Order: sequence, then structure tokens, then C-alpha cells
Amino acid sequence: MKRLLATRSTSCLAAAVKFVAIALLGCFVANANAQTPSALRDRAIQQWPAERKIDEARLARQGFRVLEGRQVTLVTDLPASPAVDELPKVVDAAVPLLAERFDVDPRRARKWHVLAMVLADRDKFQAAGLMPEGNEQFPDGLSIGYELWVADQPSEYYRRHLLLHELVHSFMATHLGSCGPGWYMEGMAELLGTHTWDARTGRLVLGAMPADRDEVPMWGRTKLVRDAVSEDRLLPIAAVMRIDNRQALDVESYAWVWALAKFLDAHPRYQERFRLLQDQTLQPDFDQRFAELFERDRSDMESEWRLFASSLEYGHDVEREAIAFPTPAASPRRLDTPARVKVDAACGWQCTGLVVEAGKAYELKASGRFVIGAEPDGPPWPSEPGGITLDYHAGHPLGKLLAAVDERPSAAAPATSAFLRPTPIGLHANLIPEQSGVLYLRLNDSPAGLDDNRGAATVSVRRVP
Ligand SMILES: [Zn+2]
Repeated sequence: MKRLLATRSTSCLAAAVKFVAIALLGCFVANANAQTPSALRDRAIQQWPAERKIDEARLARQGFRVLEGRQVTLVTDLPASPAVDELPKVVDAAVPLLAERFDVDPRRARKWHVLAMVLADRDKFQAAGLMPEGNEQFPDGLSIGYELWVADQPSEYYRRHLLLHELVHSFMATHLGSCGPGWYMEGMAELLGTHTWDARTGRLVLGAMPADRDEVPMWGRTKLVRDAVSEDRLLPIAAVMRIDNRQALDVESYAWVWALAKFLDAHPRYQERFRLLQDQTLQPDFDQRFAELFERDRSDMESEWRLFASSLEYGHDVEREAIAFPTPAASPRRLDTPARVKVDAACGWQCTGLVVEAGKAYELKASGRFVIGAEPDGPPWPSEPGGITLDYHAGHPLGKLLAAVDERPSAAAPATSAFLRPTPIGLHANLIPEQSGVLYLRLNDSPAGLDDNRGAATVSVRRVP
């Protein structure tokens, strides 16, 4: 029997993935060096005008406050409050993190400085000559090289989010020479703008997956994506990549580009390739390079993307939800003789390595005890593969064994993902697949609830004569 159900502590994918990614990295970087001379980048960076000089005394007379940080001068007409006055600290904490993310020399990043305007009254900024000429009507935020503008927000989280979003644009433009095409530019700003901030310790985390709604008032990206999916408007990856920020975007577009960037940046099989793209932002064929990087497993990626967008929630664990699809080295076999497989409670969909055929009957029998969750104060919820009725996810009891048959690659491009319509199995059931394909199993749980699960179920699978 094939070994396919990986048991590991931090992620649900096999280590072999890493090798392929590293091999790919080599050829890609060599290629990029040939086409992205650093001189081209330096020229692009030098085109940004220096930040304007401000006259602090004059601005104070006009009713502005000027807040100084190490990396930012922040001009605002907002009254003093802890959440506003700490914004320079947030910027100062963000810059070293951005330098690390974009592989910028920390000494160079330390000298980097921006002018940020956080504004309530646009007319007042206009009268003081502090608005971006020709772009005075920007919706919520704007970045032009070393200067950025953020319209004030009623939520402290969202005000910081927009400031970080524009800061990411400024940092990328003035260090990488360009932010890349619209979907990537906004996707990166949304990815890294989504954060956690501890004002007491000054600890900032960029690229966070919000744990719940209360943590990120007004952010709402997960709900916007889920609502679109429920209205049958799930965007395939190519459609997200067509989102064009040369026109004002609606907030749902920001939700889609965030979701795609988050999915690719957190997924153990796609992360390394996705991060290579940050060296390619000046390339006019950026999207083509993206397509080439992901060509060999694009169908797997689309299938997982559909599952991600359809099941997206606060605290979504992209890593544990990652699916280890069959590879040429571990190709699935037809189920002729009975097989036993393990299903890890702490992972999402898991490949059995078994091919089942349309119209034939298969008996699945499951056993074992595992932990499928815990009370808020700690006591675990033990479960068997029949599930528990303490809680439900997607209409099934937590812990219940579910099956899916993935018919790819027979269907050239999946219009849908097999994992979106699972068959409930429980302790014992017969499965008669509607189409031939590889059998996948999981123990039912929310994508946000996997990390407190422990143990596994054992499943026997046999053809019913
Ligand atoms: Zn933006």
C-alpha cells in the first residue's frame, strides 16, 4: 500500500515538495538576473521625487500636528489620542519587517523615510498645499513614492491597516522600482497590511491571518469572498489577476486580491514560488512569469484555490488545509485488493493513493479515537469517525469521516473542486463514485479548527463484489 498520509507537526505536506521548489528557484533566479539588471531598478527608483519639505511651525499655526518617527514624518489634523499618536511607532516597527520580506539591506532600510498624511478634512490639507496634485479625490489612500495619504477611518485597526497598505506601496516602489501589476500590487499591500499590533509591547506582525472579526473591525475580507462565492461569483485565479487598479477598486476586489496573495503566500507548496515574484515587479511579462512558475501544478492550485475561497474563514489554516496530491513519484493505484489508510485529524483533505471507478461500489469502514477540538478552557473533545454532535461544520458533525473523489486530470480544467461536495461516510458506508478518480478522506472540521486536533482514524477500503 502506498504511504500517503503524512503525519507531521507543522504542516500537512510531504518534504519532497521543498526539493522541487528549490530546483525551480535556481533556474528562475538565473533567468531573472539576465533580465532585471539592477541598473534598471536603480533608474526606476531614482524617478521618485524626494518627499516635500514641511514647515512644522507654519503647519502648527494652521492647526496640524506633526508626529515624528524614525522612518516617518506624519502630518495629521486628528486630535491627539493614543491610537493616532502611536502611528509613527507602527511605521517604525513595519519598515524592518518590510526590509526582511523584500530582502532589502537593513542599513539601507534604516535610512529610508516617508512623509505620511492622515487626514480628516481634505479641504484643510488642500489649503495647506499638502494634497497630491491631480489626485486630490483619492478614495481611502494613496502612495506616490516617498509620500502617502490615508483618509481617517472610524476603526483604529482599519486606520492602521490603510496606513500599512500605503506604506507597502511606497516601500515596494522605492526599493523594487515597481509594485508590479495591479492585482499583485494591491494583493501584497493587502497581505502585509493585514496585521496584529500590540501597543503595549510594540510588537507588530504583518501578513497575519485574523483570528476573529473583533480583531480587525471594518476589514471584512473573508466575508466579502464568502458572500461572492455563495452568490456563485467565485473568481478563478486568472480572473483575480485581471483586477486592474488603474481604476478605483471596490472593496470586494481588495478582498479577492488579499485572498489570492494570502493563499499563495501561506501554502507550503506555492509559497516559495510566490515569493520569487517580488524580484520580478519591473518585468512587463510578470503575469507570464507567474504562469510559467505554476504551470506544472496549476490544476492542483486552481482546485485548492476554489476550496480555499469557498471555505475561507477567520483563522483559516492554509498550511494544514494544503492537499498532498499524487506526484509522478507517488502515483495512485487502482483499488483491487483491500487497503487500510490513516486519516490525520489535524489535517484537511488527505490523498489515499487509491483510484476508485465510477459506478462501482466501495465499502469504507472507519475506526479509532482522536481529538477534534477542545473546550475554551482546555478539556479535549474526543471523537470517533462517526463524529460528535457538540458542533457542526458545513452541515456535518465535527469528526465525521468524509470522502471526495477527485476526477482530475481526466477533466482538463476543473470548473469546480471535488472537495466542495464531499460524501459523508461516518463509521461505515458504501461509496459509489459518480466519476472515476483518486479517493481523498478527511475528518470533518473547520479550516480554522485543525490545530487543536490530535490523533487519527483508520479506514479500511475494499471493492464490494
Ligand atoms: Zn493600494
